[in-house]
Amino acid sequence: MARVYNFSAGPAVLPEEVLQQAAAEMLDYQGCGMSVMEMSHRSKEFKGIIETAEADLRELMGIPENYRVLFLQGGASQQFAAIPLNLMTTGVADYVVSGSWSKKAWKEAKRFGDARCIASSEDGNFSYVPDVDALEISDDASYVYICQNETIYGTRYPKLPDTKGKPLVADVSSCFLSEPVEVERYGLIYGGVQKNVGPAGVVIVIVRDDLVPEEDLPTVPTMLQYKTQVDNGSLYNTPPCYGIYICGLVFKWLKAQGGLKAMKLRNEEKAALLYDFLDQSKLFKATARAEDRSIMNVPFITGDADLDAQFVAEAKEAGIVNIKGHRSVGGMRASIYNAMPKAGVEALVAFMDKFEKAHA
Ligand SMILES: *Cc1c(COP(=O)(O)O)cnc(C)c1O
Repeated sequence: MARVYNFSAGPAVLPEEVLQQAAAEMLDYQGCGMSVMEMSHRSKEFKGIIETAEADLRELMGIPENYRVLFLQGGASQQFAAIPLNLMTTGVADYVVSGSWSKKAWKEAKRFGDARCIASSEDGNFSYVPDVDALEISDDASYVYICQNETIYGTRYPKLPDTKGKPLVADVSSCFLSEPVEVERYGLIYGGVQKNVGPAGVVIVIVRDDLVPEEDLPTVPTMLQYKTQVDNGSLYNTPPCYGIYICGLVFKWLKAQGGLKAMKLRNEEKAALLYDFLDQSKLFKATARAEDRSIMNVPFITGDADLDAQFVAEAKEAGIVNIKGHRSVGGMRASIYNAMPKAGVEALVAFMDKFEKAHA
């Protein structure tokens, strides 16, 4: 068996220890004689799994008591609708559009009310994050929405916006658990887990109590109401049980690695390896503005589409896979999530150096 260095943006690399533990427990989860995939979501075993996962996530992120943690389905994209349906109580919300994901979220929210794009970096092909100090927040906005790390363009917010008292809603799909977070600064944090946390099929929503509608919303589908999910502890219907189990194993792994402070140091070190190489390279160039560079997704180009394609093909031969950029932007993208070892980034940089010398 040969494991490759997998730079996929998502679904993405998971910690090898987690995969091994899942394999070891596959046929018999802790002596109950069945796999997690086969057990009732109402069983005491599964109750233990979901409750432990929540407790560990709360510990890792320092989630205050007045926030609820939900394990849901439908991916991050379903939340593009659920957020306005539950939170847009004034009929107005402000969106900062810094890439494809926030643009999609903004467009979806427009179906449900006056979703306003208050800043955009589309003029610069989303290579930067709009100036968060210059935002003109609407007086009647129910919330201010950002995508904290734009997976495709490789930008992240260097700091959070001052939302003038409005709840901040953030899509953190591609930077979830990559560094410590001050949960109190947000009204709602959410992300699909398939980027940095677990297998596809789970989306985690962390929402402040007072933002969860108190009454049933007659025109909103039952499953899309946060109230339904909060009242039922994410068990209104069958949740994505196996995915939640794997997320729980990843939370344990993160704790064993030293938590989010340790992850941040490691992630910054890995990102620096790659950006330092890119900044001195005569062949490769990073595409995001330096101040706004993501430490999770690193897009880069040679400037020659044929050469990019050759690089991607030769990298694959060398065991460096899924390095092709998103189909909407081309070039390359290395996603270097928590589970990507430093050795993987070193192998990538060494390969880029070799490729560059061969094409000098
Ligand atoms: C991948 C991604 C999404 C979409 O996630 P799905 O779970 O596929 O709906 C949304 N936002 C960000 C930032 C992403 O990286």
